[in-house]
Amino acid sequence: VSRKEANVPMGSDADVNLDLVLGISDPLPSETRAAGYVRIPYSSNASAYGFVPLPFAVLGADEGIQILVLAGSHGDETESQVALVKLLGNLDPRAMKGRIVALPMANEPAARVGARNSSIDGLNLNRVYPGNMFGSPTTVIADYIERQLMSESEVVLDLHSSSDSFNYLPCAAIIFHPDKEERIRRLSLALAFGAPNVLVMHSYEDRNSSGAATRAGAVRFATELSGQDAVRMTIEGILNLLRWSGILPRNTKKAPAKSSLPNIKVIHPESHYVYALYDGVLEPRVRLGDMVEKGQVVSLIHDPSRPFRPTREIKATTSGQVVCLRPFGRISTGDFVLHLGEDPDVNLSDDIAEAVKSNWLRELSLGPRKGRRPRRR
Ligand SMILES: [Zn+2]
Repeated sequence: VSRKEANVPMGSDADVNLDLVLGISDPLPSETRAAGYVRIPYSSNASAYGFVPLPFAVLGADEGIQILVLAGSHGDETESQVALVKLLGNLDPRAMKGRIVALPMANEPAARVGARNSSIDGLNLNRVYPGNMFGSPTTVIADYIERQLMSESEVVLDLHSSSDSFNYLPCAAIIFHPDKEERIRRLSLALAFGAPNVLVMHSYEDRNSSGAATRAGAVRFATELSGQDAVRMTIEGILNLLRWSGILPRNTKKAPAKSSLPNIKVIHPESHYVYALYDGVLEPRVRLGDMVEKGQVVSLIHDPSRPFRPTREIKATTSGQVVCLRPFGRISTGDFVLHLGEDPDVNLSDDIAEAVKSNWLRELSLGPRKGRRPRRR
């Protein structure tokens, strides 16, 4: 009896295996819909032969473009974890040319307890690439993601959300790359997602998922989407990406996408990151999206234990837009207070104009599938 005859709704597990357990050297299933766990070896005092169960799903045809979507790289960022599984449950794989490979709790030991870093080894998944298959669980996960999953994917989307210590403008984000072609590919993905803001960060990327994807021959971008709207924005953005890439048919009935660009801001950590040099309670004096001038007071640091003492003022080190902001709360010396962004320069504006016209992923989808690499044993 076919799915249609049996009237089995999408999301039912009547004819798909949702309890697969894969070893870290096993290929992903070729079914159009499957899920389960990757077995990350971890022998603890409590469980000699146990493993960290890294949840995964595949959806779509095992041919054409492959997009790897990570959520829960930081386990306390929960919106994107929910958005990803909602999207998977509502997409019909028969309509897809190409597929999504999803890790909805990419650092599972962190996501299980709702913490940024792993509850086993204390590590931040997005700082330990390329990982180490002989190391602790977070480094084994990083090794698996980079060497087994990114190497077979054309695109990597790393979904992030706010946590207790910061909020971002809702955005897609890329890391600036010195190679113009790579830069334009990253930009075009961020623009195709359709978030209201795009951040271009001049950050060191070798240890995070951006550097990992680049080493593996994939193009990576990220998002920072938080709050109740984040689920809708994440799902809409991924659908935009799937249509842009040709994995889903373009919606011809819908009016063409608006041609206006999102708000694009560039971040140089040396000049745009503002830090606290005192301990105390932080009171933000600006809001996300505000434009601030160099020297403007952006936050106050109070010491509630010392009445009548002067409050410490934190001033903007440069002018720009507040793109990331630490909320009201305890703060320590060395903590970040906010990040500013500035407008793109002439060169980057040229790149953006080229990225708007770029169709590189769709063109790639018409060619042969990315070569599968021999697996190291
Ligand atoms: Zn994050």
